[in-house]
Amino acid sequence: MIDAARIKQDFPALDQEVRGNPLVYLDSAATSQKPRAVLDALVGFYERDNANVHRGVHTLAERATEAYENARTRLATFLGAAPGEIVWTRNATEAINLVAHSYAMPLLGEGDEILVTVMEHHANLVPWHFVARATGAKVRAVPLREDFTLDLDRFHDMLGPRTRLVCFSMLSNTLGTINPAREMTEAAHRVGAKVVIDAAQAVPHMPVDVVSLDCDFLALSGHKMMGPTGIGALFGKAELLASMPPFLGGGEMIQEVRVDDSTYKAPPHRFEAGTPAIAEAVGLGAAVDYLTGLGMAAVEAYEQEITAYALDVLGALPGIRILGPTTMPRGGAVSFTLEGVHPHDLATILDSQGIAVRAGHHCTMPLHDALGVPASARASFYVYNTRDDADRLVLALDKAVRMFAGTA
Ligand code: PMP
Repeated sequence: MIDAARIKQDFPALDQEVRGNPLVYLDSAATSQKPRAVLDALVGFYERDNANVHRGVHTLAERATEAYENARTRLATFLGAAPGEIVWTRNATEAINLVAHSYAMPLLGEGDEILVTVMEHHANLVPWHFVARATGAKVRAVPLREDFTLDLDRFHDMLGPRTRLVCFSMLSNTLGTINPAREMTEAAHRVGAKVVIDAAQAVPHMPVDVVSLDCDFLALSGHKMMGPTGIGALFGKAELLASMPPFLGGGEMIQEVRVDDSTYKAPPHRFEAGTPAIAEAVGLGAAVDYLTGLGMAAVEAYEQEITAYALDVLGALPGIRILGPTTMPRGGAVSFTLEGVHPHDLATILDSQGIAVRAGHHCTMPLHDALGVPASARASFYVYNTRDDADRLVLALDKAVRMFAGTA
């Protein structure tokens, strides 16, 4: 069982006042806060083990390398992958760009199709635009149904012999919609396409197992799952990673270098050129341990409960439009518009009461176009958010509406 109020105490940043009020942090979809265990792992690494990896034979270099590789193994276990299938990247964005450059660019051509969804984050769109521009392939997007879920009939219709890649988010950062990743992957494989799952919002919030998903690639960011910024990962099936040329060249990723040519290491190191984010990887390892300690099934169940509660109390506000499913299961990112108040004004008013929400397009412009709104406000819940946080949000929104209506 999850005790959110207890868990909150593990997060030093959540224990502060903002503008004279106790902070209510509802922006975890942008980045999560970090537990003390992660901060300790970062400081501990720098205080005791700091050295470059895979280079020196001295004790600190050995310790640093072991800590760095051990974090990779822990993340791999967390995802059901083998350590060799986990490539460290800066974030989910870089992970998807790696697939675009190293896998898709050399393979795709004129007339090929990359199938995405209209709810994708720009990180899972723009790299495919690069591929389309370079190869002549086309990017096509599956639309939504009225209830903010993916139109699966259209998805199945749009899959065809020219579909080479199917790229979708497992959990939408704007809608909170959970896509049926396994069903989509199976269908994609039936037409011979490879699957790239953007799991930046899924991995922090629900159990994710790459073996049962059978996805070919999966991208994540450490900073959204209680880890540090500057570290993320790409999972790739071993045989696919082995077939891919390097993305960036330099130190660490080479086997042998002559003046006019070079050969490269096996994955995952082939894709990790230069000094990596060592302390950050170690910090992410600690975040994985923390989440494993809570239990991802328990995290998911609690987030269903707190999100259902938040939707319930938010839904009672006059003039609110929830941009996302209002039935469970769904993720904890709750985007909305409030009649008569611009989302940016709303976020500013909420901040004045110590409540952190996001306003804008949340890097999902095509989705906002499809919904017919230029921007929205987003409150995103995590395992450390309590019912009290949701109540404070609703009270503040109510006040904002009355302020703008001139009745407060
Ligand atoms: N995909 C999704 C669904 C996201 O929510 C985000 C971050 N908002 C990203 C990708 C990109 O993550 P990052 O900026 O850490 O690369």
